[in-house]
Amino acid sequence: MASTRKIALLGNPNVGKSSLFNCLTNLRQKTGNYPGVTVDKKIGYCTLSNNERLELQDLPGLYSLFAKSIDEGVVINTLLHTDHHVRPTELIVLLDATRLRQSLLLAYQLLKLGLPVLFVVNKMDLAAQSGNHINQEAIKDLFHEQVIFINARTEEGIDALKERLIDPIERIPTNIEAQNFIPNKVTDKVQENLDVERDNVLYYLLQYPYLSFLKNEQRVYLQRVIEEERVNVAQIMRDVTVQLYHKMDELLPGIIVQKEQIASTNKLDQLTTHPIWGNLIFISLLLLIFQAIFAWAAYPMDWIDQGFARMSQFFEQILPNSIITDAFVNGIIPGLNGVLIFIPQIAILFGFIAILEESGYMARVVVLMDKLFQHVGLSGRSIVPLISGVACAIPAVMAARTIANPKERLITILVTPLMSCSARLPVYTVLIALVVPNKSVFGLLNLQGLVLFAMYVIGTIAALLASLILKWILKQQGTSTLVMELTNLQIPKWKNVGIEMLEKVKIFTFQAGRIILVISVILWVLASFGPGSLSSDSPQVNKPAYTVPLEESFAGILGKKMEPVIAPLGFDWKIGMALITSFAAREVFVGTLSTIYKLADEDDTQGLIQKLANEKRPKTGQLMYTPALGFSLLIFYAFAMQCMSTLAIVYRETKSWKWPLVQLIYMTGAAYFFAWITYVMLS
Ligand code: GDP
Repeated sequence: MASTRKIALLGNPNVGKSSLFNCLTNLRQKTGNYPGVTVDKKIGYCTLSNNERLELQDLPGLYSLFAKSIDEGVVINTLLHTDHHVRPTELIVLLDATRLRQSLLLAYQLLKLGLPVLFVVNKMDLAAQSGNHINQEAIKDLFHEQVIFINARTEEGIDALKERLIDPIERIPTNIEAQNFIPNKVTDKVQENLDVERDNVLYYLLQYPYLSFLKNEQRVYLQRVIEEERVNVAQIMRDVTVQLYHKMDELLPGIIVQKEQIASTNKLDQLTTHPIWGNLIFISLLLLIFQAIFAWAAYPMDWIDQGFARMSQFFEQILPNSIITDAFVNGIIPGLNGVLIFIPQIAILFGFIAILEESGYMARVVVLMDKLFQHVGLSGRSIVPLISGVACAIPAVMAARTIANPKERLITILVTPLMSCSARLPVYTVLIALVVPNKSVFGLLNLQGLVLFAMYVIGTIAALLASLILKWILKQQGTSTLVMELTNLQIPKWKNVGIEMLEKVKIFTFQAGRIILVISVILWVLASFGPGSLSSDSPQVNKPAYTVPLEESFAGILGKKMEPVIAPLGFDWKIGMALITSFAAREVFVGTLSTIYKLADEDDTQGLIQKLANEKRPKTGQLMYTPALGFSLLIFYAFAMQCMSTLAIVYRETKSWKWPLVQLIYMTGAAYFFAWITYVMLS
């Protein structure tokens, strides 16, 4: 029995909202988009004992409605929306028993909006453990009995909550009287033109004059009132917040009774914040994560790769020789492979991130790293995306979604692909073997290894420098005020870890995957067709007329057309063509060169290195692959955005083509510039 009731779940970050959402919906969830912003919209369904099916919406976690960020904007926009399809009919507001002061502030603000609210106090077990006694009667009095106490981790109290939800939630008045800080004249003016029937709504209209449900003339009007009356919105918000905190401080002694002071007895807790051990543990954890996405993920990735290769062979044998078969076997199957190949890395990385978040450890990392990273416009949370970027930018860019400040998140997304990912490795090894002598330096280090290491250092420095520049361009001030309280470490709840992994894999496969598939089919067309295959007088009858040798394909022609542009870097049309095809994935560079140089086996790197070493420039007869060209190419690949999958995931994560394009242009620009300098200096 479906119902028209739509209940929104709200609360502070880390209050246990996802845990409750998962218990109530039992995985019947779907993720969508809020229009225009990068915040994901989570909807789930909960069936009650009377078979009524409720729609639940998990809104972003926030500390206060008076904080002007994207998450708060989404919440306000949803709660105040004039369209009843968007606005929830009832609210469940979660309070954290261990952080009641913060929770009550949000609770009060939500109550004042005038929607029906049911309060749910979570983490009662942790409050008890910390030696506090929560006076349940006092909370019930405060909220007119509309309160339920639960433990979202052990699912205690969930049944009672579901029973309680059978009757619609009621509207309740608030017991807390607060002074109004908005000048009467402003209130009157706004009410003249906007139908503001609910108390307190005005604060949000002034703060977000661009809310999506306002008509254009209303927005203009609001903006005008703010300017004419010189309303200092930020000051008003500060005054109200300070006042509310005073009220909460008066209330709290009646609610929390401190029984005894229990010192933190958790040994692990002390260890992770220790100046030496804390850092050592952190570095070991990063190494473990890196190892996992770099080396362990390689096994399932190989299986996927081989599986698809076999599938291609199989279909090639059983299907008739036709253009459709070719499109399927060489376009669509490799495209699917290109999507699914990333799943192991995404699942593993998000498994780790979920464990770190769930256990409460991530909060410590963020505090540890934040000061350092703020200098370059990043957040403490950027460390995980950046480190994971060394394995692969796809999961790394997705990992940036744990960064709350939108600009810090954007900068992290924009610079992560500069970190040397594993797809660059085959390109680097071939080029280094070609132009760097295999000899030892200082008796113990190998020169080739040293150059490879330098490539990783260059990537990291480039990423940090680029963030500094972006910080300056995007005017990112170090503002992501860290409202973060360290909770005790605890064993993660494995069900939540699993759900998190599944959700991220789903988002990648179905949203970024579509784009990757389309681009790989386009690249297949470019590499296997050419003007020759389209001309009607093509005499080939027995051979498939549509395929042409790589150099006559559109990619080959484009490579030749590109030659004048890339000649200053020392590149010829063959490299130009490999640049186009390796847009599918950087490592395709090696395969493409192998094909052009007609090697029987694409993976025969030794053979390829031999051929390249002997290649001469047709005009001058001089050797082509000099150190100047080798290093120029190395530098080009270090900077260039040669990866369609990264562009697709950046599109998905920023929800617009603007940022992937900016990234493509700035990275390719930098690649061109630095490769040119390298070539000129070394020639
Ligand atoms: P969200 O950020 O609000 O979605 O919070 P989560 O649902 O991810 O929960 C944050 C952490 O608190 C997780 O490690 C949960 O397992 C844990 N947690 C949630 N509710 C409770 C509870 O009632 N008791 C305890 N001990 N832990 C809880």
